[in-house]
Amino acid sequence: MTTAEQNHGPIYDLALTGGTIMDPGQGLNGRRDIAFKDGLVANIAERIDPALAAATVDVTGKLITPGLIDLHGHFFHGGTGSAVSADQNCLSAGTTTGVDAGSAGFANYQAMRDYVFPAHRTRLLAFLHIGAGGLTLNRVLGGGLHDMAVIDADQTADHVKANPGFLFGVKVRMHTNAVAPWNAHEAMKKTREAVDQSGSRLMVHVSGTPIPLPEVLEYLGPGDICTHAFNGNPESILTQKGKLRPEVREAADRGVIMDVAHAGIHCDVEVVKAAMEQGLPPTTISTDIHIGPPDRTVYLMNDLVSKFHALGMSLEDALEASTSRPAQVLGLQETIGSLAPGMAGDAAVFDLREGRFVWHDMAGHNVEGKVRLDTFLTVRAGQVAWREGRLLQMGEC
Ligand SMILES: [Zn+2]
Repeated sequence: MTTAEQNHGPIYDLALTGGTIMDPGQGLNGRRDIAFKDGLVANIAERIDPALAAATVDVTGKLITPGLIDLHGHFFHGGTGSAVSADQNCLSAGTTTGVDAGSAGFANYQAMRDYVFPAHRTRLLAFLHIGAGGLTLNRVLGGGLHDMAVIDADQTADHVKANPGFLFGVKVRMHTNAVAPWNAHEAMKKTREAVDQSGSRLMVHVSGTPIPLPEVLEYLGPGDICTHAFNGNPESILTQKGKLRPEVREAADRGVIMDVAHAGIHCDVEVVKAAMEQGLPPTTISTDIHIGPPDRTVYLMNDLVSKFHALGMSLEDALEASTSRPAQVLGLQETIGSLAPGMAGDAAVFDLREGRFVWHDMAGHNVEGKVRLDTFLTVRAGQVAWREGRLLQMGEC
């Protein structure tokens, strides 16, 4: 038994020693130890005595970042045919917060909130779908806003208001299989109404829109989210000549969030490259993780950070778009997305693998990079939740 234990017992629950912390939210990039206590970050210092912690993991040579935040995923596992099991797909990637992007609507989100999400250690938040049943019947009805009777803006707003800290906004799918040219504007209007009534945020799917993209963007204000922003479908953010559409630049300038929601089919490498060359990198990086057809590659967050780094973003910028930035979008910047003492004890530890890595998209473009973030362990609420390929039990290290 060490001196510290004899005198006071350990003062920290967990310490990670020897790593390099990269935390864009607090402008930190350097060799630091970090300790956690009661679910929160307790200390960051050049050296923390392992004897002061009940458990210590030596992470010498590894990269420590705030737990990644996936702003667009589908986690209503069992509630919709395409939603995934959160812990397996988040904690394994260094993701500690997953935001469900409209898998449920006001008529069925309680099952997600009370039964599905509590079965996971990942912090799970949600946007309600403007359609009452969310994506439950997506595979049967193909999106399901063709019958406008499924939209009730008042009830949607009431439920968002009644769930602060859990529901953060309202999602609408502007995709030809969900809405038609005749009701797309009406669906946007109703969503805007629900968002304004609840004082929340609007998230709109913009891949494969049945109406011109600029008409969709007109409904968005500061803090609203344009998700799948870098898709390669006809109504993309680029003109036919590959220039950024002026309405897209205006939207970004007024604070509309340009979110990736990659999914394989919704993020075209050539669109990303053109946008980045013209000064529009993604505001936030997210997965749109879901169970897709077998030929679809849906990357997890650690691979997307690596891919966008390979596409030319600095590692700091790619991490900012996956940590402090999505935290700000949710208004949770005081709680998550950074590792300042007092904030949530959510962190990721990565091995920076060097080699030749290739990521692709469904349009057939490849991106080659020399560095890949490989998850070593994930800390959730001050406890090791995932380590070297497996989920851990509470209290295990
Ligand atoms: Zn989605």
